[in-house]
Amino acid sequence: MTPAHGKSNIPRMSPDNGQRHVVVVGGGFAGVGCVRRLARDDHVRVTLLDRHNYHQFQPLLYQVATSQLAPSDIAFSLRKLFRDAPGVDVRLGEVASIDPAAKTVVTADGTRITGDAVVLAAGSQPNFFRTPGASEHALPLYSLDDARALRSRVLGVFEDAARDPALVDQGALNFVVVGGGPTGVETAGALADLIHETMSAEYHDLVVSAAQVHLVDLGHTLLAPFSDRAHDYVAKVLSRRGVRIHLGVAVSEVGPGHVRLGDGSTIRTRCVVWGGGIMAPPLAAAAGLPRGRGGRIDVGPDLAVPGFEGVYAIGDVANIPAPDGGTHPQLGSVALQSGTSAAENILADAAGRQRKPFHYHDKGIMAMIGRGAAIAEVGPHRHELHGVVAFSAWLGVHAMLMSGVRNRVDAFITWGWDYFTKARGPQVLDEPDAARIDWGDDAAPDPAAAAVP
Ligand SMILES: Cc1cc2nc3c(=O)[nH]c(=O)nc-3n(C[C@H](O)[C@H](O)[C@H](O)COP(=O)(O)OP(=O)(O)OC[C@H]3O[C@@H](n4cnc5c(N)ncnc54)[C@H](O)[C@@H]3O)c2cc1C
Repeated sequence: MTPAHGKSNIPRMSPDNGQRHVVVVGGGFAGVGCVRRLARDDHVRVTLLDRHNYHQFQPLLYQVATSQLAPSDIAFSLRKLFRDAPGVDVRLGEVASIDPAAKTVVTADGTRITGDAVVLAAGSQPNFFRTPGASEHALPLYSLDDARALRSRVLGVFEDAARDPALVDQGALNFVVVGGGPTGVETAGALADLIHETMSAEYHDLVVSAAQVHLVDLGHTLLAPFSDRAHDYVAKVLSRRGVRIHLGVAVSEVGPGHVRLGDGSTIRTRCVVWGGGIMAPPLAAAAGLPRGRGGRIDVGPDLAVPGFEGVYAIGDVANIPAPDGGTHPQLGSVALQSGTSAAENILADAAGRQRKPFHYHDKGIMAMIGRGAAIAEVGPHRHELHGVVAFSAWLGVHAMLMSGVRNRVDAFITWGWDYFTKARGPQVLDEPDAARIDWGDDAAPDPAAAAVP
């Protein structure tokens, strides 16, 4: 074992059995997909690093945020996932930088881990597009911590308003969701359901009907990748549930107690959800690799980083070339499949075989709009489904996605039908810091601002 520079070192090759060592950064869909495939090969051992000891199922974060699921329903222990894979070593750690030429990963505490191959699967982070006040006052929805913070804020504003009903007139029960993509639409629909189905029954002395969900997007449609018919359906379902939709207008500023829109109007609120976009995480820049759109790492069709032998980037952190000349979207299914494909190519490298280009099997796109309402475009001809049928398709595709990281999907399917038919889950205010906000100057209304009526 040759010690390397730094605090500790894992050798490239295990001296006793000659296994190849692969270092994977990130235990999301992409990282788990990659490690699952590598774990089936006795000639490979893997070190999987993540800042959390769990995999988080992001498509259901909004359900934690709106008290439909508990955090533990969508977080799976990485060690448990690989308990039957003796060649997989799971490590908890923040990766700070990478030396791609040496195929070495450096953690925040200075540990250096060197492999025969390095796979970057570090996902994304929210993009606030430099909107003043957004990173300080808006709540993103990208991680389990975000979802718990948002849940506490939502429950916290109801508690505050119940204690001091005068706050309602100051917009305390206004919820503003920024972004008309799947995250924004799903969150707005679920918030509206929470208000009308649950809060109205549980806050007896509060005028819950004063609560209002606003959905804001700069574009002119919701769920832009879907058809025009789907756009109409989504807008109709949300409006029927009381969501106020503001299209073609940007959020120009977020304050502790308000959102200002590009048309000069202001919405008073204590809860702004940011579903406005994603970008590459800081590690993509720290890796010293070629980067393109969104700050993501540019890879070749085989998912390897050109010019850096043995270095791969997969999932959200990578710009993965698509057949139409663009890049594949940041989706769980792309991430999972790219993980498996990168693993196959790493095994091909080891066996001296030719790498294969990544081929994405597109099963469709879909979004939940609220209880019992979903929209899906499935199959090669993008057959469009609405309502119950779309919900069933949504369930099937997400069960498949979950089965990529977890062996048993029955619990998920049971939950799905419960969700469709029954009442809400845990309303736990367990992040008091996130629930509490300092109104600052927003405690007094701004007389110059035109309020959204
Ligand atoms: C709210 C929301 C809803 C979504 N809904 C859907 C949907 O319905 N269908 C769909 O297909 N896709 C959906 N997506 C997209 C999908 O979740 C992502 O495309 C997918 O999670 C990307 O997988 P990944 O493995 O590349 O990254 P991630 O799943 O983000 O995993 C990255 C991992 O890397 C770890 N990590 C990052 N940086 C470091 C570091 N420096 N050190 C150590 N560890 C690190 C993180 O902790 C994380 O575990 C949704 C995304 C969001 C945010």
